[in-house]
Amino acid sequence: MKIRPLALGLPAAAAAAVVAVVAVVALVAVLVSRPGGVPADGAGLRIVVSIPPLAELATRLAPPGSSVTVLMPPGRSEHGHEFTPGDLAHLARADVVVYVGLGLEPQVEKFLAQRPDKRRRDVCFATAVGILPTDHNHNHHNHDHDHDHDHDHEGCDHGGVDPHLWLDPILIRRLVPVLSGAVGAALKTSGRDTPEAIGALIQAEEDLDRDIAALDDEFRSALEPLRGIPIVTHHNAWGRLADRYGLRIAAVIRPIETAEPTPGQVAQAVKAIREQGATTIFVEPQFDAASARRIAASAGASVGILDPIGDGRWFDLMRTNLTSLLGASRENAAKQ
Ligand SMILES: [Zn+2]
Repeated sequence: MKIRPLALGLPAAAAAAVVAVVAVVALVAVLVSRPGGVPADGAGLRIVVSIPPLAELATRLAPPGSSVTVLMPPGRSEHGHEFTPGDLAHLARADVVVYVGLGLEPQVEKFLAQRPDKRRRDVCFATAVGILPTDHNHNHHNHDHDHDHDHDHEGCDHGGVDPHLWLDPILIRRLVPVLSGAVGAALKTSGRDTPEAIGALIQAEEDLDRDIAALDDEFRSALEPLRGIPIVTHHNAWGRLADRYGLRIAAVIRPIETAEPTPGQVAQAVKAIREQGATTIFVEPQFDAASARRIAASAGASVGILDPIGDGRWFDLMRTNLTSLLGASRENAAKQ
């Protein structure tokens, strides 16, 4: 199946549009499914991001007339996704490329390494926020699973470090200045670093930083009363978010992201849910929910949704997930 990358069109009017959330929402709403990569006029940049959650951040920092192309379409799991040669071709034409690293997108990393280009700015999220593949503070396997599934991604070794950086608002906040720096450098390289363009970029960065800080505050205050609440997740995407805001991951349904759980893993999940008093199992839209629903039924838990990917709108994604977590906590409180 040919997957067509999404492009986020940027109306030129959104130019000086430092304006605020309303303008930004309108801008990101221009999620159009057309072949991406061609700026509408000579003023913009071609920005390519590997996965949907990075799209809105890039869009907000992109100068007017830019295109933001998402290589992985919404609806797919970020694990084991195969990019087509056509998808990868967008990288060759990009002014700025943003990807997560830590082995999440081995094809992207390989492509960039094989085609160095001084005019292109490559932003590796993990490197930008100082998380190294050998950093074991956030080991993928801290939930009683000793399976080694890090070899799902051929040709890369991320040492089991949790790559779901975009689900932690603080890490996203730390990415923003690096991303902004890359956009500024790309403007300079292409001779488009006018005082207006740089001024708008600085303002966009400040606005984005402020909005992420506000989102972090929302998470903090909403989840503070729920410290230590046990949750069950579909795959190992939520460890960083849980650590950041004091949730506890009681079990993970798919310890190996790219495979359905074995009967033994299902039994283990049911046991963990019962023992730890988790009341909600969070399924993810990218995976089949059948096993999770069976586990919920046998453990007497309800089913909620946490989406690690979304459709390109990072703020909406995070807020929807927060609402789901709060629903689970009410469930939990009611059962206590
Ligand atoms: Zn994941």
